[in-house]
Order: sequence, then C-alpha cells, then structure tokens
Amino acid sequence: MEKQRIVLALGGNALGTNLHEQMLAVRSTAAAIADLIEAGHEVVIAHGNGPQVGMITLALEAAGKIEAKTPYIPMSVCVAMSQGYIGYDLQNALREELKNRGIPKPVATIITQTVVDGNDPAFQNPSKPIGAFYTEDEAKEMAIRGYTMKEDAGRGYRRVVPSPKPIDIVEKDTVDALLKAGQVPIAVGGGGIPVRQVAGNRLKGTSAVVDKDFAAAKLAESIEADALIILTAVEKVAIHFGKPDEQWLDRLDSKAAEAYIKSGHFAPGSMLPKVEAALEFVTSGPNRRALITMLDKAKEGIQGKTGTTIVP
Ligand code: ADP
Ligand code: MG
Repeated sequence: MEKQRIVLALGGNALGTNLHEQMLAVRSTAAAIADLIEAGHEVVIAHGNGPQVGMITLALEAAGKIEAKTPYIPMSVCVAMSQGYIGYDLQNALREELKNRGIPKPVATIITQTVVDGNDPAFQNPSKPIGAFYTEDEAKEMAIRGYTMKEDAGRGYRRVVPSPKPIDIVEKDTVDALLKAGQVPIAVGGGGIPVRQVAGNRLKGTSAVVDKDFAAAKLAESIEADALIILTAVEKVAIHFGKPDEQWLDRLDSKAAEAYIKSGHFAPGSMLPKVEAALEFVTSGPNRRALITMLDKAKEGIQGKTGTTIVP
C-alpha cells in the first residue's frame, strides 16, 4: 500500500467519558493509530471532546455556585482546556506505543483554532450537545435558567450551543510542517477553538463548538490529505439504521448519500455530520477518499477490507 497522508478523526469511544476511562481508552486508541504509522502513513490525529468539555463546563458551573468570584469562562477557553487535557493523554500514550515498537517519532498536540463566520446561521439556532444527559424534568429546569436544551437521538436531553461550519484552520501550516518532518501532530481537538476574524489580524474566541468531523474534514482539505478516516462506534454506515431492514453500506457516493440524507437515514448530531463531512472532503479535490469505520478496524479499513468508503 502506498504511503498516504491521513487525517484520523477519533470519536467519543476512543477517549472514554471520564479521567479513568480516558487513560485506559487512549492505550488501545494509541495501538490502532500506531498500526497506521507503522504501515508508513503520515497521520494527523483529530478528536472529539464532548464528555471532556462537558466535564470542564460542569466543574466551572459548580465552582461559580460556591465562589461568586469565579470568572466566567467562555466556551472557546473550555475547548482550549479540553485540547490540552486530551492531547496530553493521547500524546503520552502514543509516544509510549511508538517507542515500544521502535518507532522514535515525536508526537505533539497543537492548540488549534478554527475560524468560523460570525454570520453563520448556526448562531441563530444552537444545535450542538454539550456535557451530560438530563431527564425531561431536569431539562425544563435548565431551560428556565437560560440554557438551550434539546432531545438527543433518543438518549435524553442535553444542553446545546451553536455549531458553525469551519471556514479555515489557523494552524494548518504547522500541521503540514510537522507531517513533512515525520512527526505526529494532534490537532483540531474538539473541532478546534472557534474564533472569528475581527478587526485587522485579530482573532477572537466565540461561544460555540465546531463539529469535530467537519473540522477534521476542513483540516484534511487544507493539508491536501489523501484520506479522512472517521473512527466511531460502528463498523459501517447503515440505511434503515436500527430497524429490521437495516443495511450496512460498503460504499457510498455523493448522489446516493444526498438521497439518503434527504430521507433521514443518518441521525443529526451523530452519523449525519460524519457523512456530510466525508462528502465535503471527497468533493474538495481529486483523489480524495473518506472512510467511516470503528477504531479497531482502522487498519483493515484503510486496506479496503471493511468500513464505509465515501467517494465523490
Ligand atoms: P462519535 O463520538 O464517534 O462522533 P456519535 O455517537 O456522534 O459518535 O455518532 C456515531 C453513532 O451514530 C453510532 O454509534 C450510531 O449509534 C449512530 N448512527 C446514527 N445513524 C446511523 C446510521 N445511519 N448508520 C450507522 N450509525 C448511525
Ligand atoms: Mg459525534
């Protein structure tokens, strides 16, 4: 297999939902990533941050109740904190795994900013779930306190924030330079820190969360990657998902995907952004391939043996 430049987007199951789970999860995650690096590919790791940014916001909310002087910490700063915390665990685990295999490649986390448009319609319609799941009654109480609450794919209620589309990745050249130098960067964690271009050269953080799948696709496009691999909790994308006539897909082209999206086959907030991000990447330039599969199937997936391949 030819050496490829791959953007690997890790889902929630690659990181776990709390400190202990994350420390354990990153070990098997590191092994799966190391397989791709050992096979000779250039790999940049992107990841989600749902539970982690949820933990950070909950901790700050709790602190605010005890100590009135607790400063208000905007969502952009919470995302930055989550990149540092997740990056630390991931880079540490991957460094160890690579060293154990005799691959002395440096691994580093890049605090990454994602530029969004202040006029993005998402700011009028907060949709991205953050933090814990709540019951309907708890959700009603939180809504009274000013949070926007929405039901999430049958799993309960969650707080939601705006999720604007990424228009540029500020540190893309740094990612490119590290890859060219044979290093392993971790970037656009949690979709990147959402920033808006304000006066002159200034970038300003904004209270939003960029979808990690879209941010990974934008990064992949910006650094001219060959492949975007989205690793999640299912081996393949399905139509009629969870129904008796469920059908797992090996291949999905833009035309079929558009039709399935229209008929509502992919759940918003979970599979829909993955399919849309994959489509955006594969149609952004020639010879670009996207794959949606499970973490422990990544190696087989890149060899074309499993997963759902998205083509233009
Ligand atoms: P991640 O943390 O990896 O982003 P999500 O929970 O957001 O994971 O999205 C992946 C989930 O989407 C799968 O585990 C599955 O339960 C759900 N899903 C919704 N629609 C589909 C579909 N059509 N095919 C496969 N999985 C789907
Ligand atoms: Mg998700």
